[in-house]
Parts: sequence; structure tokens; C-alpha cells
Amino acid sequence: MACVSFPYDAPVSQTLFDRASLVTPGGVNSPVRAFRAVGGTPRFMVSGSGPYLTDADGREYVDLVCSWGPMILGHSHPEVIAAVQEAVARGTSFGTPGEGEVALAEEIVARVEPVEQVRLVSSGTEATMSAIRLARGFTGRAKVVKFAGCYHGHVDALLAAAGSGVATFGLPDTPGVTGAQAGDTIVLPYNDLDAVREAFAAHPGEIACVITEASPGNMGVVPPLDGFNAGLKELCAAGGALYISDEVMTGFRTSKAGWFGVDGVRPDLMTFGKVMGGGFPAAAFGGRADVMAHLAPVGPVYQAGTLSGNPIATAAGLAQLRLLDDAAYAKVDAVSAEIRGLVSEALAKEGVAHTVQAASNMFSVFFTDRPVRNYEDAKQQEAFRFTAFFHSLLSQGVYLPPSAFESWFVSTAHDTQAVERIAAALPAAARAASEATA
Ligand code: PLP
Repeated sequence: MACVSFPYDAPVSQTLFDRASLVTPGGVNSPVRAFRAVGGTPRFMVSGSGPYLTDADGREYVDLVCSWGPMILGHSHPEVIAAVQEAVARGTSFGTPGEGEVALAEEIVARVEPVEQVRLVSSGTEATMSAIRLARGFTGRAKVVKFAGCYHGHVDALLAAAGSGVATFGLPDTPGVTGAQAGDTIVLPYNDLDAVREAFAAHPGEIACVITEASPGNMGVVPPLDGFNAGLKELCAAGGALYISDEVMTGFRTSKAGWFGVDGVRPDLMTFGKVMGGGFPAAAFGGRADVMAHLAPVGPVYQAGTLSGNPIATAAGLAQLRLLDDAAYAKVDAVSAEIRGLVSEALAKEGVAHTVQAASNMFSVFFTDRPVRNYEDAKQQEAFRFTAFFHSLLSQGVYLPPSAFESWFVSTAHDTQAVERIAAALPAAARAASEATA
């Protein structure tokens, strides 16, 4: 770890973290939250409003994580909160069908043209796990192709060379996943169509599906090269496999119709999460009606969930999606571009080698001057500079993802005042990055 001083402490967060560490492994319920990649005390947040978070020590931060994507309207949006309050007053879970889940499914189908039918679940992990089971059930084949650096949740078979927390900790794999569970997973370099072609040639009639992040954000933001997704689709069609586009991160964030709205490549199945839940646990998988017809109770592929289509989560998600019109996306895209420009300008001024990569309004900063096209490239960056940059910004009230391998997220609530706060903090952060040593 680079030599970084933590410019101020966070006594209440520290006390909470100490308590948490006694009763929860590492003190957190999702590994990257523990700040292990950057060091220091994770901030325990107590409230969020618009573009700001307030921690347990009473400090306010401009939030550039947005709960890892979902909070595209900012925190505590009044219309989302009102929808939740109205739903909660009617009861919290019925375990029966309800109108809210129909309306949310209709909204998804209306927005994303390849989705003819959709099934709601509670997390992105469940969505990708179920989509893969369905692809295997539909094709009668076992093998799954995924790409190094793409994260699809902590599904056993998909934790081979995953990004996100797995990238943060540099784990090639994880104990607890058996050879049998991972044995049917073929991991290929991202943005390499030749590798996919070779995999189909080496395993004729065996590949059930290719799953890819529609535009990866879990090794930092690494958009597909021109023609990559279209090439995947073609190779899948020729090889009798399904093309699964994981839009858990990009869905309803990168455009009204997610990344599909950007590149127009039509997947057989798609997965969603994050934005569609409005900050609650809601996710989904969907796609071709003939494929979805293989799901229970219509077909033989089993999938279920006690809290699937939960009325509070669907009310929050629906309220959020209904507010996400063209003007909202234009606003998020514009503020993202503005912040990217400011970051790049500050780093350039200090002579720090960097590359800012974006996929619509998702973006990240790599501490290298070379374009990053895959996970191997991402790992070449000088991540120790990120550590110094991160802590300088944190101490000045700007909250970045605590890892160099994650996307940054903004919202419609990031207004001029929030951007000015970021701008004011950047010169010192860029200096800290330039002075950092490995
Ligand atoms: N797929 C992608 C592309 C993701 O980014 C994530 C989470 O970050 C997941 C799947 C898993 O979603 P969840 O954390 O809701 O299980």
C-alpha cells in the first residue's frame, strides 16, 4: 500500500466499525465497503439528500458512488420517497401477485425492446444466476463464456476472473467454488472476438451462452470496442448459444433503454438491477418470450423468490423509472461530462498520467496514459496514485468509490454547487496523486 496519511479521523465511524467487526466479517456486508483497497476507516453513512451523504461524524460528502449506481435521481428524491411511503402504508409483503410488479414489468418491457417478458427477482446476482440456468435449460448445454474483469454478482460459476470486489482484492478466484461449478465456465479476454471465435470452434455444440456486461463497469469503465457486442451476438447465433447482456449496472442508467439504447445490439436475454429498484432490492431478467417460456410455472426451469416483486421495491423502482425521461438522462450525461473534464484538467495540471473512460454517464479514471481495453490493461494502472487521490478527496468531502477498479456514478441531483465542491477539492487531490509513491 502506498504511504498515505489520513488527513482526519472519523471517531464515530471508527467506533461503529469496531462494533461491526466483532459481529460481521470485516465489519461490512459487501467487501469493497471495508476500504481495504485504500486503507483507513470506512465512513458509516446516516443520511443522504440529493447529491450529498452525511456520515455518523456529521460530515457531508458529495457522493460519486450513488449506492453503486441505483441513486440516479440523487438521495431521498421526494417522489420516490412518497411512493415508498404510500406503498409501505398498505403493507410490506404479501407473497401474492400484485399490481406494482405488473406495472414495473410493463415499464421494463416498454423501455427495452428485446425484452418481451421479464421475471422480477431481488438482486443482480439472482438475475444473472437465473438467466444462466435458463440458458442452460433452454439449450440443453452446459458451458458458459464470460470475460475476465466482468462481474455478474457472486454466482459460483461466474466468480472466475471477475471484476469489482474480486478485482479490488486481486483474487484470481474464490475458495468455496468447486471445480465442478467453475469447470463449465470459459473465461476469455474482454474485447477479443477472435478468442470467442476460437472458443466456439473448440467446443462445438457445448456453449449454452455468452454473458457479458453490456458495457463493463466492474474493472473500471471499459466500453466495448466498436462491433464487439454485435460480433458476440453473431457468434452466439451461429453457434446455437444465447447472448446474455448483463445490464445490472448500465440498465436504465446509460439511457432510457440502458446500453441497448446506445448500441442497439439485440440480446436473447438481459439482466437488470440497481436503477430499476430505486434504492430497494429489485432486479430482473428477461428477453425472448420463447426462451422465457421455459421458466416455471410455464416450463421446466425452476426459479422462485419469497420477496420477488416486493411491493415496496416495485413502488420505488417504478417511481424512479417514471421520472427518468430524456431530459433526466441529458442532465446526468452533462454533469458527468463536466466532472470528467474537471478531473482530467486537474490531473493534467499536475502531470499525472491518466485516462478517463466513459460509457454515457458512467465513468472512471485510470492512472495510466494508455487506453484500457480489458482487465489486463486495467491492472497496469498505478493504483497507488488512486489511493492518495481518493483520501485527499474524502478529507475534502468528496466520496469516490474506494477502489481504482470501479465506476463513478452521478445523478440528476448533482447541481452546480456540488460540482463546484468537487472542483475546489481536485487540485489538492491531483497533487496528492502526483506525489504518491508505490
Ligand atoms: N451484474 C453487474 C454488471 C453488476 O455490476 C452487479 C453488481 O455490481 C451484479 C451483476 C450483481 O448485482 P447485486 O450486487 O445486486 O447482486
